[in-house]
Amino acid sequence: MSDMTVTRDLFDQVMVPNYAPSKVIPVRGQGARIWDQADNEYIDFAGGIAVNCLGHCHPALVSALKEQSEKLWHLSNVWTNEPALRLAKKMVDATFAEQVFFCNSGGEANEAAFKLARRYAIDHFGPEKTQIIAFKQGFHGRTFFTVTVGGQEAYSDGFGPKPGDIEHVPYNDLAALKAVMSDRTCAVVMEPLQGEGGIISPDADFVKAVRELCDQHNALLVFDEVQTGVGRTGALFAYMEMGVTPDILTSAKALGGGFPIGAMLTTAEIAASLKVGTHGSTYGGNPLACAVAEAAFDTVNTPEVLAGVTERETWYREGLAAINAKYDCFSEVRGKGLLLGCVLNEQFKGRARDFLMAAMDEQLMVLVAGANVVRFAPSLVITKEEVAEGLARFERAVARVVNG
Ligand SMILES: *Cc1c(COP(=O)(O)O)cnc(C)c1O
Repeated sequence: MSDMTVTRDLFDQVMVPNYAPSKVIPVRGQGARIWDQADNEYIDFAGGIAVNCLGHCHPALVSALKEQSEKLWHLSNVWTNEPALRLAKKMVDATFAEQVFFCNSGGEANEAAFKLARRYAIDHFGPEKTQIIAFKQGFHGRTFFTVTVGGQEAYSDGFGPKPGDIEHVPYNDLAALKAVMSDRTCAVVMEPLQGEGGIISPDADFVKAVRELCDQHNALLVFDEVQTGVGRTGALFAYMEMGVTPDILTSAKALGGGFPIGAMLTTAEIAASLKVGTHGSTYGGNPLACAVAEAAFDTVNTPEVLAGVTERETWYREGLAAINAKYDCFSEVRGKGLLLGCVLNEQFKGRARDFLMAAMDEQLMVLVAGANVVRFAPSLVITKEEVAEGLARFERAVARVVNG
């Protein structure tokens, strides 16, 4: 099979048409650089959608993967394993949490979080307490429960009856939240910085006020840190710089540095509602994923790497400001750490994809977050040279769009 010739056309034949990938097929990567089948070199500002937190083929991750691959890959949860226990202990030591559930993706981590929140509320306050409140434009995954909690109906419509008792209110709108919240609310679910929804930060007092409302109504506060967690914003988790502690936190994406893994973190008191048999995952917490994630976690959770994120944010902000001074296409650059969004101004409204396509033509990988935001989520250890070269390519891409 390895001598089969593979082209992009094959995608349209043999893959379900739910994605529309670029014409380019990458074949290898190193740091923040990627090479395609024809050996063209790209700078990666996308990071596999905020996943490759240490770039491609980081030596610590390669070594953890190789080492574990010769020991033990998978057992199931009938047995526990050393990498899972070590990773859980490290995550617990580094956060508010006391216990961890491992799974394979962000969607699964949120599915576990929402099921736990429901179960906990029913256990402690009775069967009526099932309402989940989430935010418009929020994104929590693609399982039917998580996509329904997500705040874009376009993603959850068309699949028949949805899981019920889920309300959506605008992000940063405390009055709207107050209006729907009651003692029937079992959880408020939020991203501490909306990623897919357009790189939208919460107002300073908003998160604290949400925490207070949750306390008043005995509702759990669930932070979806699938995109913001593991160093992305310059803190290990974004909540750590917000003066607010959630009851349940979910992590994935950067957690495995590119190897699929997800985690749900919570207190022992809340976790007690997931008694034996109430939830599970065949692969969740497998030794291979946990060994890689442990290496990623150890590498990211250091003062140097975390401070380096904030330093790199400055490189981006300065470079983007200079580009914008020349071409005047962004109304603002927003976000935190290495989760940044260039918001297109009135003149370029709705054209984020054009910037992405122009960037590919200049051999630069970027992301969008909705139709109006060009998003960057690069490696947390991207070098100054890689940032400079990528921004030079981005400037050429911007020029292409602006000059038609
Ligand atoms: C990506 C993302 C998810 C979904 O993660 P998957 O691994 O794709 O299931 C959930 N929440 C947020 C905030 C995300 O950015």
